[in-house]
Amino acid sequence: MRWSEYWPLQQAEGTSGLRHSAWSLLSTNPPAWVYFLDFAVYPGLILVCTYDALMGPGSVGLVRLAALALAGYGIWTFAEYVLHRAVFHHVPGFRHAHFAHHHAPRELIGTPTLVSTAIFAVAVYVPLVELLGRPQASALSVGLLAGYLAYISVHYLVHHSASGGLATLRRLKRHHALHHHRENRCNFGVTTRLWDRMFGTLR
Ligand SMILES: [Zn+2]
Ligand SMILES: [Zn+2]
Repeated sequence: MRWSEYWPLQQAEGTSGLRHSAWSLLSTNPPAWVYFLDFAVYPGLILVCTYDALMGPGSVGLVRLAALALAGYGIWTFAEYVLHRAVFHHVPGFRHAHFAHHHAPRELIGTPTLVSTAIFAVAVYVPLVELLGRPQASALSVGLLAGYLAYISVHYLVHHSASGGLATLRRLKRHHALHHHRENRCNFGVTTRLWDRMFGTLR
């Protein structure tokens, strides 16, 4: 059976033990604790990268760390827009899992932690180390990872929090609701509406 047919992995009734846990870690619709693993793993990775940028060989210092982290956060917001618009809505595999989320927005469907961290390590961190050197790569990663953490947090909150709360969250909730319910060709940004405004997809 091809990989794409396993995506999203469904949990067979009665599957138990180690095999169940291992599959759960790769499932896009996992038990709650696997879904919430991101919220423990990503703050941990942010701390590790912060420590590495400041205390590792060739420390970048506090000011450059702040500047690079801010740049990383900004880059993430653009990546969030592009990933959602070009990858989640069009690339087979991702599209399947993402449309499952569109049809059941309150189900705990997300990119498995193992998949997102592996993609980050191989496609982002290693090339950044080659390009900029390790301390700078770690400093930029602090912002990129914080951006991803903000993205999964805001996305969880817009679907699961009550309508009240912060005005910004209420605005983002409406923004994302339009993406889901009215026309999924608009409002691809989740944490910011900036890139939708820039590329003419804001509704
Ligand atoms: Zn979407
Ligand atoms: Zn959503």
